[in-house]
Amino acid sequence: VDTNIQRDMENLQKAFPGFRNQYRLIKRIGEGTFSTVYKAEDLVYDRFDNSWDYEKENEKWAAPPLKVGATSAHSSITLDNDSQTQPLPHTRRRRPKFVAIKKIYVTSSPTRILNELELLHVLRDCPSVCPLITAFRQTDQVVAILPYFRHADFREYFRKMTVPDISIYLRSLFTALSAVHAHGILHRDIKPTNFLYDPATKRGVLVDFGLAEREGIDSKPCLCHDDPVHRKTRLRAAHAIHHESGLPTTGYPKQDTRPSRRANRAGTRGFRAPEVLFKCTEQTTKIDIWSVGVILLTILSRRFPFFNSADDVEAMIEIATIFGAKRMRSAGQLHGCMFETTIPTIGTTGFSLERIILWSTCRSDTGESLSADERLAVEFLSRCMELDPSRRISAEEALGHEFMRLGLD
Ligand code: ADP
Ligand code: MG
Repeated sequence: VDTNIQRDMENLQKAFPGFRNQYRLIKRIGEGTFSTVYKAEDLVYDRFDNSWDYEKENEKWAAPPLKVGATSAHSSITLDNDSQTQPLPHTRRRRPKFVAIKKIYVTSSPTRILNELELLHVLRDCPSVCPLITAFRQTDQVVAILPYFRHADFREYFRKMTVPDISIYLRSLFTALSAVHAHGILHRDIKPTNFLYDPATKRGVLVDFGLAEREGIDSKPCLCHDDPVHRKTRLRAAHAIHHESGLPTTGYPKQDTRPSRRANRAGTRGFRAPEVLFKCTEQTTKIDIWSVGVILLTILSRRFPFFNSADDVEAMIEIATIFGAKRMRSAGQLHGCMFETTIPTIGTTGFSLERIILWSTCRSDTGESLSADERLAVEFLSRCMELDPSRRISAEEALGHEFMRLGLD
């Protein structure tokens, strides 16, 4: 083990009194923008040696596998807080339980940390959402304890996925999202590293609610939610403001004197929905659906990352290259934005998703076409990557889509 990691693990154990008696740190499993995650063994839990049926408990938080008999060794378990404090009778030996310890960086704001823990608590019973076991704070340091979920690196399996495999993967992700969205919560950071998936068991759990928020909090009315008549008037007003500012009518304005619009843009580059890029002030759970669409596009095109922009303007250019200027203009209008471009690679009508996928899988020259399964996947993809959030499929609807049945037989 790296000496730096060793030192960090030592510091973590020192920071919390009694830590060593409860957890044995095994290794570092993740390092992100907001935290470091370690795998550890829960020693105390094992000492209780109770009759906890961990197989059954495990079923509660990971979506059931679609294929019967697909049970395999799981090193994870969830427990509710009652059983943690009340040791159950000594009946049978259990295997050690593993946990993921998420050490949240002290630079994160207390409200942000509280928000993450609170939302995890609200979502504790949602299928395919990794539940929070408990959390500790010592001065400014907060650690969250989650059941450890074995998973593979997305880059290792996404190229090998068959279309039914993709359907199973997305069913698990949409199961989590439909429960999260039913609670009126937006995840805001859907991407492969936040959906832990084990291709061997075909189970997945959604993690990382660090950027999640409740729908409708802090939002100001946006044109995209107005009725069409009202929308037109507000749109005219928006256009007038653009003209008054004397901006050049083509190209990307370098000296934009308009007051900048504020909207939550949290999330990961390349996975941001068009309405986030257009700074829609009333963002909904549909932003997560777009991000799932980007994951699906990545898998179908066998390219990761699919979008590789350095900033929001570049991200907009990438999306516009596929969808074309015409559709981008209408998408912008929904949020009172003008979409203007002189970039030659952005055509008026763009390309079909089918063509993009054939290109990126080197099949456009061979004259090959998509398989029937792939065509169904592309149809589903177009429902997820709908530019207008109000017309984009919801997680609930997605679960009922024909594509979701592919993995069933
Ligand atoms: P961050 O906010 O830093 O991105 P995450 O919650 O996404 O933190 O965790 C970072 C990484 O740690 C994940 O991508 C994953 O590899 C690993 N990880 C997080 N939670 C678990 C868990 N419950 N089981 C196994 N690994 C986990
Ligand atoms: Mg993360």
